[in-house]
Amino acid sequence: MTARFRKLYGAAPDGLWAAPGRVNLIGEHTDYNGGFVLPIALAQHTAVAVRRREDDLVRVASTSMNHDEPITVSLGEVTPGGDYGWASYLVGVGWAARRRGLDVTGIDLALDSNVPVGAGLSSSAAISCGTARAWSDLSGWALDQETVADLGRDAENEIAGAPTGLMDQLASVCGRPAHAMQIDTHAVTIKQIPFDLPAAGLSLLVIDSHTQHTHAGGEYAERRHSCQEAALQLGVHELREVPVADLATTLDKLPPLLRRRARHVITDSARVEEVAALLTSGDDPRRIGSLLNASHASMRDDFEITAPSVDALQEAAVAAGAYGARMTGGGFGGSVIALVDRERSETVAQACVAAAAAGGFATPSVFEGVASGGAARVR
Ligand code: ADP
Ligand code: MG
Repeated sequence: MTARFRKLYGAAPDGLWAAPGRVNLIGEHTDYNGGFVLPIALAQHTAVAVRRREDDLVRVASTSMNHDEPITVSLGEVTPGGDYGWASYLVGVGWAARRRGLDVTGIDLALDSNVPVGAGLSSSAAISCGTARAWSDLSGWALDQETVADLGRDAENEIAGAPTGLMDQLASVCGRPAHAMQIDTHAVTIKQIPFDLPAAGLSLLVIDSHTQHTHAGGEYAERRHSCQEAALQLGVHELREVPVADLATTLDKLPPLLRRRARHVITDSARVEEVAALLTSGDDPRRIGSLLNASHASMRDDFEITAPSVDALQEAAVAAGAYGARMTGGGFGGSVIALVDRERSETVAQACVAAAAAGGFATPSVFEGVASGGAARVR
């Protein structure tokens, strides 16, 4: 990375940072309803080399995705609605920092990432949060983790135009080895939950289906709208306020479609609390398996955000011996996670590849998801 940086910019970087992708264990589409989510930071990460400049220019290059010719943007010109391509995620960080009144000068930046792109594993948060951590540390802004995540989110929302909640960025910034993060998206608080699968002889497989529904964006907007409408009809500000006890009676007030949408959100947020409680109690982590399966069924039948390709992978994983499996991420394709005994990893992975072939779907790639640390300076 240092050699690459030198070649691009003719000098050594001031430092090197790394920021991970993430995978959400449970709690899907709960984040914009004030509910709970439970992501882990992955070992897959973006490495970011940065050198501070004295002027207003930002030069960025990515060795992945054929973006290895530097793009130059003048910070003063960055505005919402501008078109900076993939560089939006990085120059947007400088724009957001300046909006907060921080003293922002330009940077030269080179990045390299092994987070799969567009697989629901937050490659975008890895690049925006790696940049935010680096820019902050180099400039002496002394920002806490939450503010670093905020800068990443602002860059994504307002400059890249991607309407994400804060989960991806908080996970990338606050990850801890052998821990999951229970995030309360209403209060924006994080509880670190023990999640040491290797110690229990377990693995979390991440199965990237390599499929993504082309209308996912419109479907996402429709689900958000349905949730708002359900909250309105139930007389609450956010669906998180609806207690999970007596849910059937409460939801009787809604028309059938909204009833199913609301039921998914409320029960999935409650499942996050159950999983977190199980893991915290020191109980056998295998016991979270049935909750993972229940979450998948809820996404498939009530929220209707799965896809035939990911349903096939989920079923194949469970049939091959996984304790539980579910689609993770926004949906309509993306990745499936499966909780398996370490020695069954290969068998389950092969069963998923075979199921995809039998269904005529793309060949999935499978890797082990290991709970890892968040964005940090490495040199
Ligand atoms: P994901 O689920 O992977 O975060 P997004 O659509 O949110 O999917 O973000 C993917 C986008 O982030 C890419 O289209 C690209 O603009 C940017 N991106 C991610 N990783 C890289 C990289 N290594 N180099 C350049 N751009 C990247
Ligand atoms: Mg993203």
